[in-house]
Amino acid sequence: MTTQAGRENAFRRLAKSKFRSRFHLCADDRQYIAEKGMETIRRHCEDFVRTRLALATPPNDGRQTPMRGHPVFLAQHACACCCRGCMEKWWKVPKGTPIPPARQSRIVDFLLAWIEKEYERGQESGVRGLGGR
Ligand SMILES: [Zn+2]
Repeated sequence: MTTQAGRENAFRRLAKSKFRSRFHLCADDRQYIAEKGMETIRRHCEDFVRTRLALATPPNDGRQTPMRGHPVFLAQHACACCCRGCMEKWWKVPKGTPIPPARQSRIVDFLLAWIEKEYERGQESGVRGLGGR
C-alpha cells in the first residue's frame, strides 16, 4: 500500500472481498466530510490510527472500530485496517508490536485515498451525494 501501483493492487484485492467491498460512505459521512474538509478528516485519521491501532496491544483489539459514525471508521473496515488481526492477515503487519510512525503515515494515506475515491465517486453518480448538491 506504499506506491501508487501498490495501492491500486491493494484496492483490487479488497474489491474481491464481499465483506470489505460492502462498506461505503453514507450521506451523513459525506455531509461531515463536506463540512470538515479533508485536512480535518486526515487529522482525525492520524489520531485514530495512533491511539486505536498503533499500540502493541490496542484496547479492545478486534472490536475497537465501530461500523459507522465516522468516515474513517468506514475506511478502516473497507481497507482491512480496523484491528491488528486484520492488519496482520491482510497487510502482514505483525501483531503484538507497535506500528512505527512511518508505517502509520502510510496507513493514513491509504485510508484517505479510499475516502477520497468514495467521496468523488458518490459526487459523480449523485446517488449518495448530498441532496441537490
Ligand atoms: Zn479487523
